[in-house]
Amino acid sequence: MAVIAIARSRRLDDYLESVHRAGGYPLEVADGGEQPSRIIERVGGVLLTGGGDVDPSRYGEPQHAAFDPAEPGRDEFEAALVAAALASGTPLLAICRGMQVLNVALGGTLIQDIPSQIAGALPHSVSPPRDAIAHSVTVERDSRLHGLLGDTIEPGDLCRVNSRHHQSVARLAPGLRVTASAIDGIIEAVEYPAVAFCVGVQWHPENFWQTGEFQSLFDGFVQAASARRP
Ligand code: MN
Repeated sequence: MAVIAIARSRRLDDYLESVHRAGGYPLEVADGGEQPSRIIERVGGVLLTGGGDVDPSRYGEPQHAAFDPAEPGRDEFEAALVAAALASGTPLLAICRGMQVLNVALGGTLIQDIPSQIAGALPHSVSPPRDAIAHSVTVERDSRLHGLLGDTIEPGDLCRVNSRHHQSVARLAPGLRVTASAIDGIIEAVEYPAVAFCVGVQWHPENFWQTGEFQSLFDGFVQAASARRP
């Protein structure tokens, strides 16, 4: 059973359930515990979770008025976890804030506040319930994500998703590829093709474990983690 490092967040229950259902064994990790380089030595995969905003000083921009910081130390810890995972070829699944952490760690920037900065954007902060469908995304047909999502992809390469983010990728980091976007142009998924498994999604697939729409994404991730470190 592959051990999956899960970045601590305020609410982990749905992430834990999704990983458990995929056959993974979750290990909660956070700043102040084991060093990222040591964590990577004993896990098969890394799951970056949702949470507050990445401090924009990490990509060289001043703070927007809507800045909602993550827990102290979390940005640095998770950036180091990304670096260690990619350097070692450890499978990485990055959800919501996690996808933003991934983009910034590789040299990209973020839209700091979609509602005030992107005219005509769809509502991307939709809640509750947590699995409420907010909008569709168009998934690139030749992407890893397209294969992972399987039957959840509808005709026209569309996929209906929930949405609880006020930030998104602005300048894409070198080496990353956009694999899904919303109709308003907001980037909703990325991949890092240089490694075996590195997928980021801006929505929250973990909130669907009861109905299973995105279980195949977690299954594929845990399978990759098991192959890396059985
Ligand atoms: Mn969205």
